[in-house]
Amino acid sequence: MDKILVHICCGVDAVWALRKLKEEYPNAQLEGYFYDPNIHPEEEYELRWIETKRVCNDLNIPCKKGEYDIENWFNAVKGYENEPERGDRCTICHDIRLEKSAKYAKEKGFNKFTTVLMMSPKKDFDVLKNVGENIAKKHGLEFLAVEFRKNGGMEKMNKLSKEKQLYHQNYCGCIYGLFQQRKGLEYIPELVSFSKEILPGSREEKLAIKKIRTFAEELGLSCYEEEFNFIDWKLISSVLKIGKEPVYHEVLPYSASIKGILRDRVKNIEEKEDKIILTFEKSTTQVWMVENSSNTKLEYPRFITNPVFIIKKIPVEIGQKFEFQLKTEIDHNAKSQILIIGNIQSENYLDLSVDENYHEIISRIKENLKSLKNSEILILIKGSPKFGDIGMMYFKNIMGVKS
Ligand code: SF4
Repeated sequence: MDKILVHICCGVDAVWALRKLKEEYPNAQLEGYFYDPNIHPEEEYELRWIETKRVCNDLNIPCKKGEYDIENWFNAVKGYENEPERGDRCTICHDIRLEKSAKYAKEKGFNKFTTVLMMSPKKDFDVLKNVGENIAKKHGLEFLAVEFRKNGGMEKMNKLSKEKQLYHQNYCGCIYGLFQQRKGLEYIPELVSFSKEILPGSREEKLAIKKIRTFAEELGLSCYEEEFNFIDWKLISSVLKIGKEPVYHEVLPYSASIKGILRDRVKNIEEKEDKIILTFEKSTTQVWMVENSSNTKLEYPRFITNPVFIIKKIPVEIGQKFEFQLKTEIDHNAKSQILIIGNIQSENYLDLSVDENYHEIISRIKENLKSLKNSEILILIKGSPKFGDIGMMYFKNIMGVKS
């Protein structure tokens, strides 16, 4: 019997290619090999791996996660950093991935190997065929150059990846390709993690949701991701000084940017429920003094407003000098999501958030497994809690979830 090792770079490219291979080689033993040391950053690599695993699980095809040996990859493409996509850097990148896959295939007793890279419209089929055949020859294997894209392959791939709600990346993978694609931007959003917690619309949020989804699906539970659009706000940089002393602070989400450096004096100090509000002589900027400044969650939708800095309660006087700098960014097309585990018609639901400990969420799913399978309960998992409560309000209204 033929043993075929399939090099896999991502779930989207694999979703139709693996079905096609199953169709063309019904008696062969197929196994996936996820090897992508070119992917940057590591969260993106993990996300592509999770989705590859989901696709393979769905088809009962075992899949091995290769090593993330990014240093070797960087060394191999040294000197080719500025090459365009489809240029010499890409040829080296294909060589590395196929060489390692062929080596693994030989060690594990496979007689054939192929790659789902041939699915991608951005890759040259003949170049990949050539590389694959040469490498296969070297290792005493046969390379399968399958024309996955032919006969409506692309349409089938798009349809399946939509149905399975697969993560669809918007760049090939490496940092150099990303630099070229995002040329002219002040910073590259894909390479920045804005905070330790999980932010709405971030890759970290998607990764956390996908990990939980994979776990639930492996237990035979049905899952669905409900996406919603929102206007995202990001803090790029901020400075707050009293006199000349920098002060630890937070910025209330959806505060507008301040042009240049703002120097202002305290005009009014007002005590209100849980906080003291400072207003200023020249500007509409405010400072809120609170007991615990690390608890600035958004509970209600908030539109872009005057800048609000949050600090701990300290002695302040009228007329005292403050200095502010604030740079923020708005994304009108951001998307966050809620993961629904179980049957939407269930009478009861549990409301969790990805910021809760992953193991905690896993044990809640396990504890409620029977009820989930019997449609007695539904688990809703919010993306980032910063926006999750708002997302949950939207979700309950739209989907009519009973409380
Ligand atoms: S653009 Fe894609 S194929 Fe080319 S080197 Fe980067 S990751 Fe590899």
